[in-house]
Amino acid sequence: MGAAIIDGKALGIEIEKGLSERIRFLSEREVTPHLAVIIVGDDPASHVYVRNKERACERVGIASTRIDLASDVNQEDLISAVQKLNSDESVHGILVQSPLPNGIDEIAVIEAIEPTKDVDGFHPSNLGRIVMGDRNGLIPCTPSAVMEILRHSGLELGGKRAVVIGRSRIVGMPLSILLAQKGADSTVTIAHSKTKSLEEICREADILIAAVGRPEMVKSSWIKPGSTVIDVGINRINDDSRSSGTRLVGDVEDGAKEIAGIITPVPGGVGPMTIAMLMSNTVLAAEKGH
Ligand code: NAD
Repeated sequence: MGAAIIDGKALGIEIEKGLSERIRFLSEREVTPHLAVIIVGDDPASHVYVRNKERACERVGIASTRIDLASDVNQEDLISAVQKLNSDESVHGILVQSPLPNGIDEIAVIEAIEPTKDVDGFHPSNLGRIVMGDRNGLIPCTPSAVMEILRHSGLELGGKRAVVIGRSRIVGMPLSILLAQKGADSTVTIAHSKTKSLEEICREADILIAAVGRPEMVKSSWIKPGSTVIDVGINRINDDSRSSGTRLVGDVEDGAKEIAGIITPVPGGVGPMTIAMLMSNTVLAAEKGH
């Protein structure tokens, strides 16, 4: 029997619908949640991501402002654009689309964002709150999307063996901490580029999360039968059979869905849920701001 496939798009829409009540409540108080996105340069993938975020804002009734800066913008000017949004009371959420051009210190830019408006959840203050188990911060959207998918699947996480492949500051590391936190109570292994015997580690995982960025790196033979597999990876590969000549695949081999108990697809899994969590963070920031 194949795995149950989580429909991240449908789940994301359900979450967005749940936000509409809260948005109505705010609008009765003459507050419209407002997300400002800064995009630097003309990286096509970044433009697609930003457009998807703008569309989600339209769907749920969040105002959005997009600030386009040239790829040769200097760090000082980028930071002053952030500071201007920090002091704009009508803006509740600020996001600076990555990647930023070479020569710009991404951490310095993130640190310039007022933490209460940091809807990406990448500011050290918000990441630090996760470590402290303090739920008052804004949680990064992809880790939050994964936790929401696990909650939705009704899986008991307590005592389960979770393996997170990837230790990035925006996905793998915060997600590992959330999984190990009181309440989630999983026993977490963080695997990364220097990990040895990765396949054996994966085979022990009741919950396997791949956040690497390498097409189908996790082989079906690594999957523990009946386990839960969350594929965060988004990789574009060549495919001559498509009119576009490319298609998206995850970090997990397609055949894993024959072995796992629950699995997320790519596309249509963690991606749309990540955008829903961004909407959720923006509404939360607006509620807290008023
Ligand atoms: P990253 O490049 O910052 O981190 C990749 C991690 O993978 C690193 O920690 C590295 O140690 C680990 N790694 C690299 N090679 C490895 C190997 N051979 N074995 C084990 N670990 C290895 O990437 P990221 O920003 O965390 O993103 C990871 C993937 O998730 C990418 O495909 C990205 O596009 C995708 N992503 C998806 C969403 C979404 O909304 N679905 C959001 C963010 C990132």
